[in-house]
Amino acid sequence: MSSNPVNKRLIVGANKPAHGTNVLTNTQEAIRDALDRLGYEQAVYELLAEPLRVMTVQIPVRMDDGRTEVFTGYRAQHNDAIGPTKGGVRFHPDVTLDEVKALSIWMSLKCGIFNLPYGGAKGGIVCDPRTMSLAEQERLARGYVRAISQIVGPAKDIPAPDVYTNAQIMSWMYDEYSRIRESDSPGFITGKPLVLGGSRGREAATALGVAIALREAAERLGKHVQDLRVLVQGFGNVGSNVARILYEMGATIVGISDAGGGVYREGGLNIPDLIDQKDSFGMVTPRLANVIPTEEFLVQPCDVLVPAALENQIHADNAPKLQASMVIEAANGPTTPDADQILHDRGIVVVPDVLANAGGVTVSYFEWVQNNQGFYWTEEEVNQRLEAMMVQSVHNILDTAERYGVSPRLAAYMVGIRPFAEAMRWRGWV
Ligand code: GLU
Repeated sequence: MSSNPVNKRLIVGANKPAHGTNVLTNTQEAIRDALDRLGYEQAVYELLAEPLRVMTVQIPVRMDDGRTEVFTGYRAQHNDAIGPTKGGVRFHPDVTLDEVKALSIWMSLKCGIFNLPYGGAKGGIVCDPRTMSLAEQERLARGYVRAISQIVGPAKDIPAPDVYTNAQIMSWMYDEYSRIRESDSPGFITGKPLVLGGSRGREAATALGVAIALREAAERLGKHVQDLRVLVQGFGNVGSNVARILYEMGATIVGISDAGGGVYREGGLNIPDLIDQKDSFGMVTPRLANVIPTEEFLVQPCDVLVPAALENQIHADNAPKLQASMVIEAANGPTTPDADQILHDRGIVVVPDVLANAGGVTVSYFEWVQNNQGFYWTEEEVNQRLEAMMVQSVHNILDTAERYGVSPRLAAYMVGIRPFAEAMRWRGWV
């Protein structure tokens, strides 16, 4: 944990929902359920319930005022039976080891569902970039790469952006890694800017995938995107792009929110206008009137709720009051298991995170493939390939859910975890 008193205050602080449950325990229970239904033995569960490898590092950073501050960072590599591990790095004051472990398991599930030749990984640093200068963030990003350099690499473990990290942070990490290895290695990290070997379409990929998942799931219920009223919680990279893409597809975006609360307009919001006003941390409400608290925001009238912020936002207290008939999880882990059950009992369709938001890692995979072959695709090619994979995966999971009579989440866990169990069996681990 950081020794900075500011960070300590933020760790204890208001960002954690009062109803938060342990995301790791929840995920392990879901993995157990999925493996039981598929008939795998205990050793398979034990290997998949925890990451195979976890590294905790202390990163000294010289702050602008001359002090040295020590930040804690993590990298969890869930399973490498299929190939190198893959997943983002999060900068956030609420990062914990259990959260990073759970996020690494979710990355495996995404790779399994989309047949990507990777296992899952995740990184996190306990810090609040909103209170740090760019120079301090650069030193932190470089220090993190130095600390974990032995266990990462284009054929080992490939980082990417996540909450409060972006193409600039990826560029510094890439530069640091290339210096350590004394060779250029664009396949080390994804989410890079175009000039450094990034992929066209990567920045909006998670959001485009979410919008396609929403459209496909709605069509199965006989609903069209142009007729839907959508609430989007979170206005960072994913939330703002989801709002924009759905707005362009003709949906009515009745509400958006950020860390300061939300705005709701029955007639719909002008999304391009709001995007112009937001800052780099996705904050827009300080510039708006009639802002309501997040809890009130989530239960406003709508057809679809898209949580695109942090974990545990939909919980047992607000789940009975949601007015949406569909929830499309753009964030990782936004719904607690209790809430999931309540939504299921209420007949609300939940398209789970590991399916809905996997467009990001899918285009990260495309970026890595382009880096490896040194041949770059057009935005149209990227988006067409993403769309085909999204459409196929959404119907595969929803069909599996119907066939087994289980929730889409459990179906996603079953489809996503099976390749790991099979790969481990072929390798002779179990
Ligand atoms: N951080 C994103 C996620 O949670 C993307 C990971 C990646 O591109 O590797 O899926």
